[in-house]
Amino acid sequence: MFARAGLAALIFTALTFPALAGTGPICAACGKEIGPGKYLQDQWKSCYHSEHSHIKRCVYCARGISEYNTHGGVHYPDGRDVCNICNASAVVDEENARTLLARTRERMAGWGLGITYGSIPVRLVDQATLNKLYGRSNEGNDGKINGLTTKKWTKDPTGKVLNREVNINILYGLPQEIYEKTAAHELMHAWMFLDKQPEHQPALEEGTCNLASYYILQESQTPLAGFLREAMYKSTNPVYGNGLRRAIKYVQANNFTGMVKMLRANKDFPSGY
Ligand SMILES: [Zn+2]
Ligand SMILES: [Zn+2]
Ligand SMILES: [Zn+2]
Repeated sequence: MFARAGLAALIFTALTFPALAGTGPICAACGKEIGPGKYLQDQWKSCYHSEHSHIKRCVYCARGISEYNTHGGVHYPDGRDVCNICNASAVVDEENARTLLARTRERMAGWGLGITYGSIPVRLVDQATLNKLYGRSNEGNDGKINGLTTKKWTKDPTGKVLNREVNINILYGLPQEIYEKTAAHELMHAWMFLDKQPEHQPALEEGTCNLASYYILQESQTPLAGFLREAMYKSTNPVYGNGLRRAIKYVQANNFTGMVKMLRANKDFPSGY
């Protein structure tokens, strides 16, 4: 399961424009010049008159949604407000979804996480469907869910696992970079399951899946990727945030190969991590 990192921690900075400083910045909400006095700035350095502090923010990049700042935005029936900068790359058709998933899988195979399995089915679903599927699993939760891997196995009468099956579900309309980070997280769950690893404790399982997202974002190096990585790294969630920080610490000390060995042998982080 992969959830949206909370944007609540990302607030406007209040700044003051000096009275005699000449032309002020242009307001990203109304397009008018900001005069002397207090104003707001977001993490993209866009400036706003103080009275726009409640402007609708994009759920993915946290930009204030306006014609001037983002060329508007869209509102999804599940409540998401998405700016048109993010929406330009929204993953809305299944063919694109499959291509991007396959590409992410190849990138992960390059790290030594090759999945010996045929094509992994991916479905784009709405938030209600995702929440319903999630309700049947027993994983922890870090906010609104972006993706979920369902795992199935068939056993013989003695309990021996004969066959394993995975399906990936991802929220409809995610901007491409968020889709890819979600795909990496879910593919990590799939890899651990198909690789017949022990059932991990939540912090090890989710922390390692988040590590895959973190690396995928690191490779893309865009400002949005940097912003998303920071939000993941700073998450106070004991499973997702702390799990990620522990996984990073582990991989820094033991490399990726060491991490793979540890996951195959252990249910939880060894002591010291
Ligand atoms: Zn997960
Ligand atoms: Zn304004
Ligand atoms: Zn956005």
